[in-house]
Amino acid sequence: MATPLSHLAVPLALGVALGPDLVPPGLLALAVVCALLPDVDALGLWLGIPYEHPLGHRGFTHSLPFAVALAGASALLAPAVGADPRVAFWVLAMSAASHGLLDGMTNGGLGIAFFSPFSHRRRFLPWRVIEVSPLRPSALFTRRGLHVLRSEMRWIWLPCGAAALLGAALRGLG
Ligand SMILES: [Zn+2]
Repeated sequence: MATPLSHLAVPLALGVALGPDLVPPGLLALAVVCALLPDVDALGLWLGIPYEHPLGHRGFTHSLPFAVALAGASALLAPAVGADPRVAFWVLAMSAASHGLLDGMTNGGLGIAFFSPFSHRRRFLPWRVIEVSPLRPSALFTRRGLHVLRSEMRWIWLPCGAAALLGAALRGLG
């Protein structure tokens, strides 16, 4: 995985780029949950579900079909948080899908079951530029942890920050 902190970059960037009219705080909170939720499968490691199992880490909950289903279900809450359901669906789908895509750019672990439950084959994206994060959070406070965070800063936060500022600037011009 990338660190949980860095999985926040995409929903936050969407929120800044699109602005509070399209992404009110309640929708932003839902998007953050959608971006973090796929790693719930890491609990399976403690429950004895093997990493390579379809329900193992980077399996079903990291897939694109899961992201679409999660976004569809979560978008039902759009009226309750003051958001347009169609906008909510796309923001939530991009947030949820970004998780597996970012993990697919890391240089360690098993690949992502992008098309689960239709195919359980694990794949990476062609660009494996992000240092894989250790599963134990305490390991982040080491030399290797700093190396991971530096890599995520460069390959996740910088592009997301740039996209967020560009979106906000374009919105200001509109
Ligand atoms: Zn993950």
